[in-house]
Amino acid sequence: MTGVASSSPSLGEYREQARAWLAEHAPTGGARRDPYDVSVFHHLDRDAELEVLQRLREWQRAKFEAGYAAISWPAELHGAGLPTEYADAFKAEESAAVSLTRHELFSVTINLIAPTVRLYGSEELKAVLLPGLLDGSLLACQLFSEPGAGSDLANVATRGVREGDEWVLDGQKVWTSGAQFAEWGQAIVRTEPGSSGNRGLTTFMVPMDTPGVEVRQIRQMSGGTSFNEVFLTDVRISDSMRMGAVGDGWAVTRATLGFERANASNKAGVGGQFDQLVDLARRTGALQHRDVRLQLAEVRMREVAAEVSLHREQRSRDTGQPPGASGSMRKLQWVTKLQLVSELARTMLGDRLIADLGDPGTWSWNAHVLGAPGYRIAGGSDQIQRNIVAERHLGLPPEPRPAKPRGETS
Ligand SMILES: Cc1cc2nc3c(=O)[nH]c(=O)nc-3n(C[C@H](O)[C@H](O)[C@H](O)COP(=O)(O)OP(=O)(O)OC[C@H]3O[C@@H](n4cnc5c(N)ncnc54)[C@H](O)[C@@H]3O)c2cc1C
Repeated sequence: MTGVASSSPSLGEYREQARAWLAEHAPTGGARRDPYDVSVFHHLDRDAELEVLQRLREWQRAKFEAGYAAISWPAELHGAGLPTEYADAFKAEESAAVSLTRHELFSVTINLIAPTVRLYGSEELKAVLLPGLLDGSLLACQLFSEPGAGSDLANVATRGVREGDEWVLDGQKVWTSGAQFAEWGQAIVRTEPGSSGNRGLTTFMVPMDTPGVEVRQIRQMSGGTSFNEVFLTDVRISDSMRMGAVGDGWAVTRATLGFERANASNKAGVGGQFDQLVDLARRTGALQHRDVRLQLAEVRMREVAAEVSLHREQRSRDTGQPPGASGSMRKLQWVTKLQLVSELARTMLGDRLIADLGDPGTWSWNAHVLGAPGYRIAGGSDQIQRNIVAERHLGLPPEPRPAKPRGETS
């Protein structure tokens, strides 16, 4: 552990303080997690989803006011200026004490977009956005993908044209998670006419209530509508909303994607968990089968491995550095675990996965099985992560990319 001021409590004292604070302030009742909820994506109606978000906003605000929202960030950026171990300790205590329903938009806002604003936002933008992003009053989505730009994200066609101190944005984004609830969106757009690939792109923070921003929901196979199409028509925003230099949008976006990959295996509570699988194995009688026990052990092993690599990743993030390609390895690690959980649930439940026979905690697993494949695509597909690991970690020759001068992938 490094960098702890002599006036700071020891890690043990801090944990005690956090536990006492949580005992007094942890939210109770309403919007708590259903013990049988193993869904990867929500399928709530709008009012229920708004209620979930409201509870999370209140909880985030309480943490912010008590100094628990950005424990390892520096004090001048609304953090507590403590080492990562303190943040880890709080998180462990919080997981034990709080069982609010999760929402992906919080993770996107706090773990992906806030650190990007910290790295690339102007002083003005940081002052406008960081307090709200960290206290839950401003939620932000990622306006990256387009119908013609997914894995090949550098192919974005949404245009940004400068007019004095403003930019006018026109184009279409797609698969934007949480856009229907977000106050802000981080958008990558092409600002240099005639440019191609990762050159001539710029990143902006766009207020989602700006005239010309239209959000249309998309229904996914697991039943929910977590993501959207976002149409941008003559959307005027101030140049002060720009992140990074004009033309440097690729570096900014890559940092956010790096945070996303690094954060992927941090979604400890997403989908079916080891304990829930063990419970299912007991209830279905599958625990007596050696193969099931072996598969359970493999799921647990992967969870532990993910915790270890998460810890390593967090250390570099806390110094404000963009994460490297190791985030891709961690994302692959996590989605492989999600798949293993799906396979095991399928093995144990068989056709009970396809019809609700009224037996709690059985059919509900189809929300895991149908949702898990989404994360093999979101934030960069498995194949793209493997390309990144091969090229940037292992130094293998890059795949041929005739259209991309710098040999980059998203
Ligand atoms: C649940 C979910 C949430 C999402 N949320 C957001 C969001 O909030 N904001 C946002 O901007 N986007 C979001 N996305 C979009 C996501 O980033 C893209 O779907 C993803 O980057 C893949 O792009 P694509 O769908 O266009 O597929 P494509 O790029 O068309 O890929 C199709 C297939 O080809 C493979 N492939 C493509 N190129 C290569 C290559 N070079 N080598 C090997 N294989 C390759 C891919 O792996 C994939 O299997 C989300 C997606 C999902 C599923």
